[in-house]
Amino acid sequence: MYKTHAYAARSATTPLSPFEFERRELTAHDVRIDILFCGVCHSDLHTARSEWAGTVYPNVPGHEIVGRVVEVGSEVSKFKVGQLAGVGCMVDSCRTCPSCQEGLEQYCEGPGGFVGTYNAPDKHTGGVTYGGYSTQIVVDEAFTLHIPENLELAAVAPLLCAGITTYSPLRHWNIQPGQKVGIVGLGGLGHMGVKIAAALGAHVVLFTTSQSKVEDAKRLGAHDVVISKDADQMAKHANSFDYILNTVAASHDLDAFVTLLKRDGAMTLVGVPEHPHPSPSIGNLIFKRRSLAGSLIGGIEETQEMLDFCGKHGITSDIEMIRMDEINTAYDRMLKSDVKYRFVIDMSSIKQ
Ligand code: NAP
Ligand code: ZN
Ligand code: ZN
Repeated sequence: MYKTHAYAARSATTPLSPFEFERRELTAHDVRIDILFCGVCHSDLHTARSEWAGTVYPNVPGHEIVGRVVEVGSEVSKFKVGQLAGVGCMVDSCRTCPSCQEGLEQYCEGPGGFVGTYNAPDKHTGGVTYGGYSTQIVVDEAFTLHIPENLELAAVAPLLCAGITTYSPLRHWNIQPGQKVGIVGLGGLGHMGVKIAAALGAHVVLFTTSQSKVEDAKRLGAHDVVISKDADQMAKHANSFDYILNTVAASHDLDAFVTLLKRDGAMTLVGVPEHPHPSPSIGNLIFKRRSLAGSLIGGIEETQEMLDFCGKHGITSDIEMIRMDEINTAYDRMLKSDVKYRFVIDMSSIKQ
């Protein structure tokens, strides 16, 4: 067993604080990773504060993990000690259901679905899984990713969730060069969506509620920026979008965006707000055969494809590095949409 330092939420209403636990002994297929950086996803906050039902305390969040392999099990073939490695939102799945067989482990149909990196039943320990706000992790190599060597490591961490969650729908809805693509919300997911959609050759329009983010959005690759609270600006784009990816973390009026889609256009929701959205207008959907859809992270094979794509295109996240003990302030700032554009924890700060 490996003594591990971490930060955990003890309840929905108390700040995260230092916590110690033990990582399991390695099985033949496991790697042990010394965690160097971990991104801070809005899902961490939703979970730590029990905004979605079912948080088991203590809860160690974190599913944007990068680090270095320090030990490998006897049958590990993908990794060697000393290599960089990443772990995203999943650490296991049933591996035999139709979705797993297709490399779509995030939609695992086995009992309980995929095993989340945190707050999921841990079949090795009998407890719950603990995530990346910790000094090390033991993971099956099948759920461990290779990190492109040419990118800044800390800025790669957010690709493991924010990157794949935006890459996967953009690929699934087959975004092509020249298509008009909207990204709603310039947070962690949204800023990755802008960069990836631009790299795919789309004409990217960013929708934001924050006037202060307009210049940044253009720097990040948006061709146009719309203040979504401004009805006149919104009206100019009616019936014009091939596709919209909505990353907003709070409930809001979906019709304002659905009406911007062309006939046969689609809007995919990836934000999972604490409170439901007001029901969208069905007329807006049927009269133009528009679709409203959802999408969940991405499979392991596609996550590797996304990392390689980002390596090739030089894409990383724009990050603000924090110490582990700054996590509670970071959460409060995230709730005010005051993040440019992803907090990343420097895990060496936990040992100090
Ligand atoms: P984030 O960094 O906090 O960004 C969310 C952005 O939404 C904000 O920066 C803000 O952008 C906009 N926003 C916030 N409140 C709003 C409001 N009331 N009305 C309109 N816009 C608002 O969060 P994130 O880490 O990107 O995560 C976004 C959501 O996706 C979360 O709910 C998270 O749990 C979920 N998520 C889902 C998946 C999945 O697989 N589907 C994966 C990861 C995360 P502006 O300032 O530009 O308006
Ligand atoms: Zn996430
Ligand atoms: Zn499965």
